[in-house]
Amino acid sequence: MEIQIWDQRERKQKKSNEARRKKELIKDRVKLTCHKCCEFACDNYDIRCVKNAHRIVISKEFKERCDTKPNSKYPKLIDGLDMRMTLVCAKCKTIWGTQAIYNGMELPLMNIGGFVAEYPNGTRKKVKKWKDVQFNVEPVAYTDLDKLLNLEPTASVEE
Ligand SMILES: [Zn+2]
Repeated sequence: MEIQIWDQRERKQKKSNEARRKKELIKDRVKLTCHKCCEFACDNYDIRCVKNAHRIVISKEFKERCDTKPNSKYPKLIDGLDMRMTLVCAKCKTIWGTQAIYNGMELPLMNIGGFVAEYPNGTRKKVKKWKDVQFNVEPVAYTDLDKLLNLEPTASVEE
């Protein structure tokens, strides 16, 4: 139930964002690779925006390309997201983001600073801020979470 309300809120936010923004955006595939070892991480089609602030990756393959380690320095709650684990590149251990827990769901949040964006024309750009990326990031939808979590019937869903 709470997820559905969340979903509606994301949609409302999306409309207001689109009205504001008139930036030239790339609709083709943009690859995001590790900024240190160049290992492929995910592409723009796999990224969704949560609460208009955090970017998550909804491909299950992304999780296999990451390792996690305890985020002992900053165990904290931000926007209801429990940031207890750090995500690192499985190959070179560069920090890629945070494994956040939201309502019992594991959401891989991206830290754009860990990646290089590879555009269709071959340009490779290290991006510092999300607002500087040249592709659109859709707000997360309920169906995306379905895909990410593979919704296995577990007790935690009912809590
Ligand atoms: Zn790496």
